[in-house]
Amino acid sequence: MSFDFLCKTILVGASGVGKTSLIQRYIDDIFIPEKDSTIGIDYKTKDVEIEDSTFRLQIWDTAGQEKFHISLSSSIYKNTNVLIVVFDLTNKETVNSLEYYFTEIENNCRKNPLIVLVGNKCDLIENQIENVEEKVKQISNEKEFKLFKTSAKERTNVNELFYYIAKTIKENP
Ligand code: GDP
Ligand code: MG
Repeated sequence: MSFDFLCKTILVGASGVGKTSLIQRYIDDIFIPEKDSTIGIDYKTKDVEIEDSTFRLQIWDTAGQEKFHISLSSSIYKNTNVLIVVFDLTNKETVNSLEYYFTEIENNCRKNPLIVLVGNKCDLIENQIENVEEKVKQISNEKEFKLFKTSAKERTNVNELFYYIAKTIKENP
């Protein structure tokens, strides 16, 4: 199958925030409740039709290294168009860890990538961090990143997230 655009996207973020789950939900439409969060997938692709062109999203997972704060090798960042920085809406520590990922991105990505923030697990309504938008904004140094609140479990905003990415890259390649 052919495509008109290829977009390399990487998910980064603390262990257990739901990176692998988001990819599995988007690509295969499944959710596995209990799993070993060190098990990652390399990458998966999905074609998105936007207007009359085919947009191939190549979505890379990352796993394990963040626990030990070992930097991802800069090669994985090569030719990256989009970084999805994921945190857990019920875990404040994962919000604080965003700073680490922003530094990683700054140090390793040559071109200016599109950065999208994802607060996952919005289905866990009782444990949500208060004023999360404010906290994220502070950590982002007031940079205006688009923030999606998602649930890989309940499918909330998952298609919307990837469609937004495809459309944004198509408009500003
Ligand atoms: P990763 O380490 O970032 O890849 O995280 P995983 O995708 O392995 O998910 C870690 C744990 O969180 C697993 O037990 C998932 O089932 C769970 N999880 C992931 N996404 C969600 C979600 O949207 N809602 C809820 N309630 N649990 C989730
Ligand atoms: Mg994982």
